[in-house]
Amino acid sequence: MTAGQIVKKYIEFFEKHEHKRIANSPLVPQNDPTTLFTSSGMQPLVPYLLGETHPLGTRLVNVQNVFRAVDIEEIGDNTHTTFFRMMGNWSLGDYFKKEQLPWVFAFLTKDLKIDPHKLYVTVFEGNNDVPKDTESITIWKELFKKVGIDAKEDERIFAYPADKNWWSRSGPPDKMPAGEPGGPDSEIFYDFGAELKIHENSQYKNVKCHVNCSCGRYIEITNSVFMQYRKEEDGTLTPLPKPNVDFGGGLERLLLAVENQPDIFQTSLLGPVITAIEKQTDKSYQKNETAMRIVTDHILGSCFISAEGVQPSNREQGYILRRLIRRAFDNFSHLNGKDLSAVIEAVVDQYKETDPLLVEKFEHIKYTILEEVKKYSTALDKAKAYIIKKYPSVSSGLVGDELMGVKEITVDDAFYLYTSHGLSPTQIKSLGYTFDDKAFAEQMKAHKDLSRKGAGQKFKGGLADHQLWRHGPQLHQS
Ligand code: ATP
Ligand code: MG
Repeated sequence: MTAGQIVKKYIEFFEKHEHKRIANSPLVPQNDPTTLFTSSGMQPLVPYLLGETHPLGTRLVNVQNVFRAVDIEEIGDNTHTTFFRMMGNWSLGDYFKKEQLPWVFAFLTKDLKIDPHKLYVTVFEGNNDVPKDTESITIWKELFKKVGIDAKEDERIFAYPADKNWWSRSGPPDKMPAGEPGGPDSEIFYDFGAELKIHENSQYKNVKCHVNCSCGRYIEITNSVFMQYRKEEDGTLTPLPKPNVDFGGGLERLLLAVENQPDIFQTSLLGPVITAIEKQTDKSYQKNETAMRIVTDHILGSCFISAEGVQPSNREQGYILRRLIRRAFDNFSHLNGKDLSAVIEAVVDQYKETDPLLVEKFEHIKYTILEEVKKYSTALDKAKAYIIKKYPSVSSGLVGDELMGVKEITVDDAFYLYTSHGLSPTQIKSLGYTFDDKAFAEQMKAHKDLSRKGAGQKFKGGLADHQLWRHGPQLHQS
């Protein structure tokens, strides 16, 4: 089953249940200066979840392209990509838990034919303000029973606190301001099984594995949010008269479950991109997993961001695009990659079934990425020339074009390379230089405070996203 077929089945399933399909919103939100990218399917629907009437009614479905800058640090593991497609369905004060949970379960186990024995679910455990979500537990027990599974709590159904199973725009119940809606959520996880020893071979091997463990054995494939309460002035939470459902399921994660493939970069969707990188680098994925995952992910994100007309720059979305391209290039070069355009071609080829826009914009995407690579290479050359001129003693250490060994430079010079040539601390180090990290971080903070003051409040969300790059893009050293 291809990614395109999963999308088709999903839309058809919910249309059969009287949902209206809404369009994929742009990746760069229009009229929303608080954030740089659309990061979930519900983001463009917030006004309707808060009570505005939607022109298409109370049952909606779509597939939304999303980019999560917050997940950049996760790239390199087996389950995260910064760009992915989120399949979503919504009830705007219409149906609730007893419809939503059976529908998701039927879609996964019947339409996608995922083995129910591989599925585990989580619910909200309750706290002082809100009771445990026993309603969802009862529904889950019945659903599993129908497929011959005795779903016991702490065996197949797990209750977690608010940090895992509660949604509101401002976080857990105690952080919600008066008037704010929120509620418990119920997630479905797919288990790749103990036999693959994913947990034992991970950095989490010393802690006990559980469904929400980050080792990669269990992956969250879907999340149904039940927007059911409202925070009152006196701090209590009261039930909303017309609660909403907000469902999100990652297409790429569902493909993992459908293919029983624990590596998001090895599915039928992204596997061919990795193969293209192996060909261009004459290296194996097995020995260069992290670097090849970063190249794949960042080129994928760059293709979709540049397709929307964003240009690499030092501001907002352009800044994120610049960092993605440069970090992809760093890792590709580190692997002695020959032609990055072959990777771009592979991405477009793999995504054209669901996103024909990439084919239409192919030349533009390629030009945008390769031009930035050219600019970056020039900046690297200039940075090298600047340093060699300033520290002539290093010249004698040159081997061919490369610097031999490591040379300490002043923090002012490192900062100059950062502000004038756009080189991150890691990139400067990868050129063969060291400097005082602590002093650099202090200078960076002062610089950021200054630019934040200049930007005022306008790009609040954007600046928060920028913080993600506070350490600069890390070159993966294998
Ligand atoms: P995780 O804890 O795995 O990072 P999340 O809690 O951030 O996921 P949600 O915000 O609940 O995820 O998003 C809804 C769905 O989107 C998830 O159930 C998952 O299928 C998918 N998803 C979330 N983040 C990613 C990602 N970085 N890459 C691929 N799919 C993702
Ligand atoms: Mg979640």
